[in-house]
Amino acid sequence: MGAVTPEMEQTMSAQAIRTIGIIGAGQMGNGIAHVAAVAGFEVRLHDLAEERIKAALATIDGNMARQVAKGAIGDEIRRDAMAKIVAAPGLEGLADCDLVIEAATESEETKRKIFTAVCQHIKPETMLASNTSSISITRLAAATDRPERFIGIHFMNPVPLMQLVELIRGIATDDQTFELAKEFVGKLHKTVSVSEDFPAFIVNRILLPMINEAVYTLYEGVGSVEAIDTAMKLGANHPMGPLQLADFIGLDTCLSVMQVLHDGLADSKYRPCPLLVKYVEAGWLGRKTKRGFYDYRGEKPVPTR
Ligand code: NAD
Repeated sequence: MGAVTPEMEQTMSAQAIRTIGIIGAGQMGNGIAHVAAVAGFEVRLHDLAEERIKAALATIDGNMARQVAKGAIGDEIRRDAMAKIVAAPGLEGLADCDLVIEAATESEETKRKIFTAVCQHIKPETMLASNTSSISITRLAAATDRPERFIGIHFMNPVPLMQLVELIRGIATDDQTFELAKEFVGKLHKTVSVSEDFPAFIVNRILLPMINEAVYTLYEGVGSVEAIDTAMKLGANHPMGPLQLADFIGLDTCLSVMQVLHDGLADSKYRPCPLLVKYVEAGWLGRKTKRGFYDYRGEKPVPTR
């Protein structure tokens, strides 16, 4: 990794990031929009359908209202930040962005199509990033016309609360792109940890096999949902049980990450648990569909097994 040269510093300040495009307005996309707008960036938010963008704006507004109530931000900051987030129903709405972050569904095919399409609408110098939890940055970069200006910027969920952001360089990512991404994360007051481009990077390489093992523990009848979560909360001092966490992440995302680990590292220890597959096939994806290892439709979450 080269040092920042005076020439790089000059082009970096000329290319300072001011406007951020976000593709995918789900739980991660809306979190990234939230923290970027609060930090003063202009944000363009895109999704497949306008209603999803509207729903995301309502969620962000609600989340910011909670932060105001807790005294974490002032009401003026909330109003200014909300005004900075503009819906972009078409990809042409991202034309003035300096950095576009893709936070769409965890599918390589979907992401590759998005990246190929967005390149036709943005400036040549615009940086591209993916928030993927597991997919190769080098392969995603290859679907664009600018692999040197492509990087993995992996936020954690929920974005406004979590301190870490993983930065992942693809094989072609240049030093300037890396430095600009680092600077951007710093402006969000978050901490960077750098990972090499291997399946699931650092956090999910370690976290998801643990979650998958918790699902096996349930599948084999070693313990109930409640027993497993209580055991790990009180026995390993985890703030959330692994099944509760799986519901929070989204079981489709958990399964995709396990499949990427299994395919990418070709080791049977990463075999996705058949019970996880079954929940995903049922459309029980966790909190976002109101049912997963817990049922969230009532007042209190109730274990589904
Ligand atoms: P989500 O299901 O909440 O949201 C995905 C959004 O992408 C949906 O609104 C969907 O309509 C949209 N989308 C799908 N295809 C699209 C397309 N072609 N164009 C535009 N939008 C499209 O998922 P999420 O949890 O927000 O995850 C998004 C990404 O972030 C994934 O890559 C995931 O691996 C990653 N991630 C997730 C977590 C987590 O804990 N959930 C944490 C870190 C990173």
